[in-house]
Amino acid sequence: MWDSYGKDKVADFLRQLNQASTATLMLDYDGTLAPFQTDRDRAYPYPDIVPILDLIIQSGRTKVFVVSGRPVREVESLLHPLTDIEIWGAHGLEHLLSDGTYQSTTIDSSISEILAQAEEWLRESGLPDMAEIKPGGIAFHWRGLPAFEIKRLQVRIQEGWLEFAKKPGLKLLDFDGGIELRATRPDKGDAVAEILKRADPRAPAAFLGDDLTDEDGFRVLDGRGLSVLVRSEYRMTQAKAWLRPPNELVDFLEQWSRM
Ligand SMILES: [Mg+2]
Repeated sequence: MWDSYGKDKVADFLRQLNQASTATLMLDYDGTLAPFQTDRDRAYPYPDIVPILDLIIQSGRTKVFVVSGRPVREVESLLHPLTDIEIWGAHGLEHLLSDGTYQSTTIDSSISEILAQAEEWLRESGLPDMAEIKPGGIAFHWRGLPAFEIKRLQVRIQEGWLEFAKKPGLKLLDFDGGIELRATRPDKGDAVAEILKRADPRAPAAFLGDDLTDEDGFRVLDGRGLSVLVRSEYRMTQAKAWLRPPNELVDFLEQWSRM
């Protein structure tokens, strides 16, 4: 059934899970729990995901976390009606606890100033209005455009944002469907580290993600839990296992729900 690689690691992990009294499940959202959509507001989870996650949560043995680049409120609304889930959004800048408490970290004013300049550059450069201003970053989305248009936008933005990306505390990152200029820290690795710090060290932990930004989380989990690349096609990764969505992902979560 495990068509992709790392089946031995996954099986070992599930055995460990069966013997544990508590566990930590960390999940990226876009591309992992939900297929990509041109309309990002409609990127709902694959069928079966919400009920299975609900089963896992209701068992009371696993604490479920979503670690996303999206603002927390967007993830919360896309996962409706799921409750008792903890969300780390904007790559860890925002934190929505399962009891509804909202926390956020403010970024350095020098970084906000550069992001404001980069936003201004976008406005002045006559590019289509496809930017998403989010905590700690600006994402430019081009999903759904023809390939030649994507190439043109990519080159244009990379050049235009280069001077901002070179400033300390900022980075330019490619993601599936666009490019983002954002604060270097926190990253998803910081969010995963924070979650693990608060968890029972004996609790088996896993982090599932699809994109390059998830690699920071995979690295942090090394030696401490199972890292899983969730992606239709394989790419180079630090993750110890690879599952193809949605079927292999649903199978994995279903087995988790029976722990
Ligand atoms: Mg993703």
